[in-house]
Amino acid sequence: MRQILTPIAAGFIAVSCAGEAPLELEAAVETVRVASNDDAADDPAVWVAPNPQDSLILGTDKQAGLYAYRLDGSIAQNLPVGEVNNVDVRYNFPMPGPARDIAVASERTNIGLAVFMIDPQTGEIEAWPLIDLPDFADPYGACLYHSSTGAYYAFVTDKDPGTVVQLLLRYDGEGVITGDEVRRFATGSTTEGCVADDRTGMLYIAEENVAVWSIGAEPDAGTELSLFAEVDNVHLHADAEGVAILPEGETGGWLVVSSQSANTYAVYELETGAPAARFQIVDGLHDRVTHTDGLEISAASLGSDFPEGVFVVQDDEEDTGGQNFKIVDLRAMRTQLSDPQ
Ligand code: CA
Ligand code: CA
Ligand code: CA
Ligand code: CA
Repeated sequence: MRQILTPIAAGFIAVSCAGEAPLELEAAVETVRVASNDDAADDPAVWVAPNPQDSLILGTDKQAGLYAYRLDGSIAQNLPVGEVNNVDVRYNFPMPGPARDIAVASERTNIGLAVFMIDPQTGEIEAWPLIDLPDFADPYGACLYHSSTGAYYAFVTDKDPGTVVQLLLRYDGEGVITGDEVRRFATGSTTEGCVADDRTGMLYIAEENVAVWSIGAEPDAGTELSLFAEVDNVHLHADAEGVAILPEGETGGWLVVSSQSANTYAVYELETGAPAARFQIVDGLHDRVTHTDGLEISAASLGSDFPEGVFVVQDDEEDTGGQNFKIVDLRAMRTQLSDPQ
């Protein structure tokens, strides 16, 4: 099998053999399970608080609503707004009055984009009116992009045709966030996970059985997708689910993709798309992660337990029942990406 030798931004060498056993991680914390039975937990996001140890993990229960978890996995808040599937966060949304952070989630009960405003002083999350997506069948994926122009955008994917819309988000002066469509394109088949890199203005989208695609995140970047990584069933196995970025420096780092049927995470060098490593989360203090779904990375310092951030993933089968989210110390992932095995 082919050995992949990848120079990375910090000057280290990451080595991985695509066909060999994945590198191992263990969860440091697991959240309380979501209340709904069967397939329910889907996608996380991380909200970084001004006081880092007060940061929250947001996690969707795709049958019921949004959870906010403390870093010890306990529930801080539960917002039963409907069938929210994917969730994402950005900071300091432009609006009058005290600063507010924003979270959005694709919402399949009322067909739209659920909007949540977060008070950075208290960490309290408030559900705001939904942004309707009248011509959507099934809002599936969602992610946010904060442009260097200052604008805030949401990308929402429609499950079956693979349609992707880009919405310009604005405060309309009446306690409502509006989302004007500024671009529309399509992948061709079931599409869910996405992530925007605010540093480089690039968007990455996972078409479950086909590929991870990239495209410029500005609304004038056209509609043509570039192949970033194929679902080759060697490094990346269907379904390609959640996607997240582990940043390094100004433009570097890695793209991490949930490789669902292999119970692994495929890691690519962000700047070249070269495969860098595969990870799995094995039994340890907490049970292993299987049939992995949504994921998120925050490289922000989150206090003494997670000084270099977290890697958060959905676990399809919590060993005490139901589904939950597992939190991995990002140092463990960085160390293995940076040290030859
Ligand atoms: Ca997410
Ligand atoms: Ca999912
Ligand atoms: Ca498990
Ligand atoms: Ca457990």
